[in-house]
Amino acid sequence: MLDLLPGAHVTTYELVIGAGTLLLGIASVASFCTVLVRDAHRRRRARTVPPPRDDPRWRTESIPQRVGRACACCGRVVRLEPDAATCEACGDVCHVACVARHAARAHAPAPNPFR
Ligand SMILES: [Zn+2]
Ligand SMILES: [Zn+2]
Repeated sequence: MLDLLPGAHVTTYELVIGAGTLLLGIASVASFCTVLVRDAHRRRRARTVPPPRDDPRWRTESIPQRVGRACACCGRVVRLEPDAATCEACGDVCHVACVARHAARAHAPAPNPFR
């Protein structure tokens, strides 16, 4: 029988149970916090590591850049990604149907003065 507080009769059994419950609570809260911190660390690391070069996320980023731009050959806006082509010589956006014509016009070899 312990008498910690005057007037409060706390038995040793109650004290042990109370302290044990308190310790268990602290331990569970601490482990929960550890799990949260580890999870946050893992997520932060996953975010800073860039995806590999062949990751589809790299390709999806180029889609809005081509759609909506004017074709370098005919001047009409490229409406659909399957219709979009990028000129290998200058990087301009063209229609798939126009890119060959654009290359022939814009990147034609200098006319041969001896012909
Ligand atoms: Zn075009
Ligand atoms: Zn070009």
